[in-house]
Amino acid sequence: MSVVVAIVGRPNVGKSTLFNRLVGRKIAIVDDTPGVTRDRREGTGRIGELTFTLVDTAGYEDANDDSLEARMRRQTEMAIAEADVILFMIDARAGITPTDEHFARLLRRADKDIHVIGNKAEGRASEPGLLEAYSLGFGEAVPLSAEHGLGLADLYSIISQAVDKVEAEQAEAADFDMVHKPAVDVDVDDEEGEDQEGDTAPMRWNPNRYLNVAIVGRPNAGKSTLINRMVGKDRLLTGPEAGITRDSIMVPWEWEGRVINLVDTAGIRRKARVQGKLEKLSVGDSLRSIQYAEVVVLLLDATIPFEKQDLALADLVEREGRAMVIAVNKWDLIEDKNAKILELREQCERLLPQLRGIPLVTMSGLQGRNIDKLMKAIFDIERTWNVKIRTAKLNRWLSAMTEHHPPPAVSGRRLKLRYMTQAKTRPPSFIIFASRPDALPKAYQRYIVNGLRQDFNLPGTPIRLWVRGGK
Ligand code: GDP
Ligand code: GDP
Repeated sequence: MSVVVAIVGRPNVGKSTLFNRLVGRKIAIVDDTPGVTRDRREGTGRIGELTFTLVDTAGYEDANDDSLEARMRRQTEMAIAEADVILFMIDARAGITPTDEHFARLLRRADKDIHVIGNKAEGRASEPGLLEAYSLGFGEAVPLSAEHGLGLADLYSIISQAVDKVEAEQAEAADFDMVHKPAVDVDVDDEEGEDQEGDTAPMRWNPNRYLNVAIVGRPNAGKSTLINRMVGKDRLLTGPEAGITRDSIMVPWEWEGRVINLVDTAGIRRKARVQGKLEKLSVGDSLRSIQYAEVVVLLLDATIPFEKQDLALADLVEREGRAMVIAVNKWDLIEDKNAKILELREQCERLLPQLRGIPLVTMSGLQGRNIDKLMKAIFDIERTWNVKIRTAKLNRWLSAMTEHHPPPAVSGRRLKLRYMTQAKTRPPSFIIFASRPDALPKAYQRYIVNGLRQDFNLPGTPIRLWVRGGK
């Protein structure tokens, strides 16, 4: 028996686009006009080796010239009756509309495995919508771009869990009255401090979820070679063709049980070669990959490290607030490895002071050397990027810092730093409340940031510091 997955949601959120992508044939007709006629409603969906029955409820929208409400009820009833898993799709760029809320009310009555899918999430514009979706009451929204094929690894894990569950239920005798409950996320960091939890929904982070990793670097640094090495055939979840888009390739694969989306800009590089504007395009295209990623690997060529373009990329990653690992590739070509590593460390500290202590991994993509070290560094830095420091601890630390090295006096009066708290994670961002926020010198702010980095062990992640008045 195949697991039945239904896509539910208001018109125009992208249900048919997802259906087409997963079923692989152009069965449903996609159109910009809401409620356009669909001629088929069911097909076999595939992600990697996983197959399931996919139902596009958009097909139910055109039955008659019924009211939207009647159509929604029919869609939802159908999904509740037939589906094992319901993908409740919203348009993350548009945010939550009253129609979405109406759907949510109907679905809440259902005792089903329901996941909110925030579609059209390929850019920054979707972030507020994704957060807002929490209010629908089905947990955190899963970001997806049906059109660009991003986020498929997440769908894979949702659906494969459902398959496991259905199989387990079938194995168990029917005298067990099992209740479907969505899996509980592990709450590792919440955006709010523990002392100010309340009306806003906390951001959640589940370490079992996928990780988006981008590999950026100058042309010829060895990106393609490395990606091919990492994504051995046995670890690929779907063929790269599943994620090919106009802008980038997202390759879902697996490393030690975690799903990783590798953002590859190979497609762009091909395009760039054709246009003969390699150097110029590279940074802009990398920017797109960086924005998709949580962790960015900056791949250097050990024979020509820290070139201008490398530094520009590092700067971009820092500004975008992503976690970063520097991988020094082609290490096989270096003769005096000890001398080289010292030289690299020195260059790194001098040229990238804003990322002090960033991990350097020496490796060879060609020989497949140290890829495990690179992966470990990626997971470590992701944890650092997600770190949440308790307010009480921060304030004890702040008074020690100001005691050791007091803030300067400005026009005869000493500046007071009153209170400090971590406002958010990813990257770690802090607020200091000061008596005269504008007067706190940049040098003192650097002293605080460097201190945080060192004392709380935060290498390789951007750190944000805001100084405010009051408190
Ligand atoms: P449905 O009515 O929910 O089945 O929505 P469709 O699949 O017909 O999509 C509605 C519109 O949204 C179409 O113009 C799609 O091209 C567009 N669309 C679908 N998925 C995405 C996406 O991931 N990103 C963006 N930007 N547009 C999308
Ligand atoms: P990309 O432009 O960054 O994707 O770079 P490629 O993967 O196409 O590699 C550029 C060149 O560097 C190719 O000739 C590769 O064989 C070579 N290369 C890649 N990785 C290594 C490595 O670890 N060691 C050595 N010696 N050569 C490498």
